[in-house]
Amino acid sequence: QILGTSSSTSGAFISIARAFSSSTTPIKATLFPGDGIGPEIAESVKQVFTAADVAIEWDEHYVSTEVDPRTNSFLTWESLQSVLDNKVGLKGPMATPIGKGHRSLNLTLRKELNLYANVRPCYSLPGYKTRYDDVDLITIRENTEGEYSGLEHQVVKGVVESIKIITRKASMRVAEYAFLYAKTHGRKKVSAIHKANIMQKTDGLFLQCCDEVAKKYPEIYYEKVVIDNCCMMLVKNPALFDVLVMPNLYGDIISDLCAGLVGGLGLTPSCNIGEDGIALAEAVHGSAPDIAGKNLANPTALLLSGVMMLRHLKLNKQAEQIHSAIINTIAEGKYRTADLGGTSTTTDFTKAICDHL
Ligand code: NAD
Repeated sequence: QILGTSSSTSGAFISIARAFSSSTTPIKATLFPGDGIGPEIAESVKQVFTAADVAIEWDEHYVSTEVDPRTNSFLTWESLQSVLDNKVGLKGPMATPIGKGHRSLNLTLRKELNLYANVRPCYSLPGYKTRYDDVDLITIRENTEGEYSGLEHQVVKGVVESIKIITRKASMRVAEYAFLYAKTHGRKKVSAIHKANIMQKTDGLFLQCCDEVAKKYPEIYYEKVVIDNCCMMLVKNPALFDVLVMPNLYGDIISDLCAGLVGGLGLTPSCNIGEDGIALAEAVHGSAPDIAGKNLANPTALLLSGVMMLRHLKLNKQAEQIHSAIINTIAEGKYRTADLGGTSTTTDFTKAICDHL
């Protein structure tokens, strides 16, 4: 159960997801339930964490109904400050209204918190059959620039331009992260994904940085793969890949492709890594407006993101316990949400996971 709820002037709510019998001091983590299916799947995470006796104190922040001039977005300054203070958090999906003139919530978070790398593991779940049973790869997406720099203009009527920015600083930073990740996680290969044959300057610089960093890791096999060929290879034989590092837009697209290899967006987690040691975990998927409020969403992707957050906090025992409960529930097949071919509601599936802990 959720123990203790209090509100403050900033609109933040704190709930303590832990049993009072535990003597461990709770770690404070920011929680953004987000939009659409976000609140439903965030509730699922809170219930599973409570059932697993995870010593986390959630500092909850909702998307505001008004633009905060200090952030120029619907995210309040207090909510950003919460992540800066706690250094760790879990984020539900946030909808991006098209053409409204203010900053996207996701872009605001990434830019303001300097979340420079987005780590997206994608692996076959034992017990859930897809065309492949050997997918085990990590997409590392540059998270702050590229086509997502937010620089779009109308040049003259009927002509618009969008500027792709690639900097040496951001490319080196994400390449360093990818190789270090590969080394520390026992991975053998890093593939830099690009389109430098056409975007010679931008993707060319990105590749130069990857080449430079690769030289420092002779024990890790390094290759460069053109994005279109990468898509074909992923669909034909995903086992060819291990760690993939790429500019922002390619990472957005490739990670959805990868989700499709293992059963869909309901299953794939991620974690945004920032400077100053910040880790903000979130599902790869969006707010799924088509199923929002219907108790149909699969909470697995957000739960597995929560597991990534727990591993980041070195709460490995609870991370493994929750991970196993999710995998076993799906493998057993009795409770599955509609996206996995089942008939369970979000709440029934969540309860089944709690029963498997
Ligand atoms: P989406 O990921 O929300 O949905 C795509 C499809 O996948 C839909 O059919 C949806 O029902 C299904 N789906 C997604 N998550 C699911 C889950 N957990 N369980 C079951 N089915 C699930 O993509 P979209 O429709 O293109 O985007 C909707 C909104 O979300 C947009 O405003 C978009 O900008 C935003 N978005 C936000 C994030 C984020 O917050 N990180 C990421 C992607 C999209």
